[in-house]
Amino acid sequence: MQIHCTEKELKILKIIAAAADKLGVSCYLIGGFVRDKLIGRETKDADIVCMGDGIELAHKVAASFHPKPAVAYFKTFGTAQIKLDDFEVEFVGARKESYRQDSRKPEVEPGTIEDDQNRRDFTINAMAISLNASDFGKLIDPFHGREAIQAQIIQTPLPPLQTFSDDPLRMMRAIRFAAQLNFTIVPETLEAITDNAHRIRIVSQERITDELNKIMLSEKPSIGWDLLFRTGLLQIIFPQMVDLYGAEYVDGKGHKDNFYHTLQVVDNISEHTNDLWLRWAALLHDIGKPATKKFEEGHGWTFHGHEVVGARMVPKIFGRLKLPLNEKMKLVQKLVLLHLRPISLTKENITDSAVRRLLFDAGEDIDHLMMLCSADITSKNPNKVKRYLRNFEIVRERLLEVEEKDKIRNWQPPISGEMIMAKFGLKPSKPVGIIKDAIREAILDGVIPNEFEAAYAFMLQKASELNLVAVE
Ligand code: ATP
Repeated sequence: MQIHCTEKELKILKIIAAAADKLGVSCYLIGGFVRDKLIGRETKDADIVCMGDGIELAHKVAASFHPKPAVAYFKTFGTAQIKLDDFEVEFVGARKESYRQDSRKPEVEPGTIEDDQNRRDFTINAMAISLNASDFGKLIDPFHGREAIQAQIIQTPLPPLQTFSDDPLRMMRAIRFAAQLNFTIVPETLEAITDNAHRIRIVSQERITDELNKIMLSEKPSIGWDLLFRTGLLQIIFPQMVDLYGAEYVDGKGHKDNFYHTLQVVDNISEHTNDLWLRWAALLHDIGKPATKKFEEGHGWTFHGHEVVGARMVPKIFGRLKLPLNEKMKLVQKLVLLHLRPISLTKENITDSAVRRLLFDAGEDIDHLMMLCSADITSKNPNKVKRYLRNFEIVRERLLEVEEKDKIRNWQPPISGEMIMAKFGLKPSKPVGIIKDAIREAILDGVIPNEFEAAYAFMLQKASELNLVAVE
């Protein structure tokens, strides 16, 4: 295994080495940069650990560049950062850490490079490369991280129970690295996560969710979600997701396991998009199923209204996970609510009005919705898959056809609430809403054409039914 640095990286590393030399401190590249270089992954930041004051070294390094980059430093943590274009370098003094039971915050004291490697979470993250003149470029790998990379395993350098008890966030990190790198967590380490899962409660939600989002953005997110489930972490951090697990049987009739179905849908959509929120929508699309599950005689299992219940759960779940409660959440909620609608359009004799309604309700997100619906096909029967996909093609064609004709996608009805209020001298009130909705429904149902004149006449007619008199 060899490390390939770009010329620019090498130049920066040499400047750091020279600055450290001038200060008379030894320094090393450590952690993620070394790991990712050995794996051949892209790297955008590097951590430098020195046997001295990291902030002082950062200032010395910054002074070697023209123009001089800003040094962002945090005295309390003894860390400093320099940004060189899109490359970020972080400096810190080597430290030795000891932990107490009730906190993630360790007692910290200055240490050697060995001490600093000992406090690292996984053997693949505990490798260092010397930047000192005597052995520049030498890999210092006391825990055989290089072999772990070759064997594609995640393993803690110290006994795993200790590692996870010291800092339970590392359990999430282990699973996140397994998902990102498609590595296997060794049995002893995996067992220690299971045994320590309850300790995740002392970790802040923001940090947990950071890791969930990284899992979500990995190539095959199901790897991470399945590990979270199997170690018992998911039961604590996201119990609604666990409620999807398992298949119940009545009279020999079972339903599919919605947990593994959901994971398949997330993997499917991830093949087509890197958008975090579309992936969350896939994860949550069936979240209302456990609450709506019923066994109906003669019918079998039903989940009536699960899309409505699921959409209502989205803000609560986002709130609990401290995901943003903004338009991204609204997008996820909308996709969850509408995820069955395109399927309903695959039936025969679908009217233009049904197609128009979906275009209106989905608006700009219609393509995302269609992507989610295609990802939702997880049948193992290739003939069924083929048939479903063909049906969706037909829906897509209908959507295009109706959109071309009626331009509903970003549509606003031709008569606004303001116009209605001005015409009849009304303040914002119920009748305004009634007339506005009636016009919209009439156009979507094809009762009147999507034109101003027709909508205006319809407004007058509706107003007279409500005994309203025009003032203009
Ligand atoms: P990424 O940049 O993808 O998040 P990374 O490994 O670089 O991955 P950072 O959070 O930047 O992650 O951490 C840098 C290094 O610091 C890690 O490689 C690891 O050696 C160490 N580290 C980070 N967090 C922990 C932790 N909770 N416990 C022990 N070591 C840690």
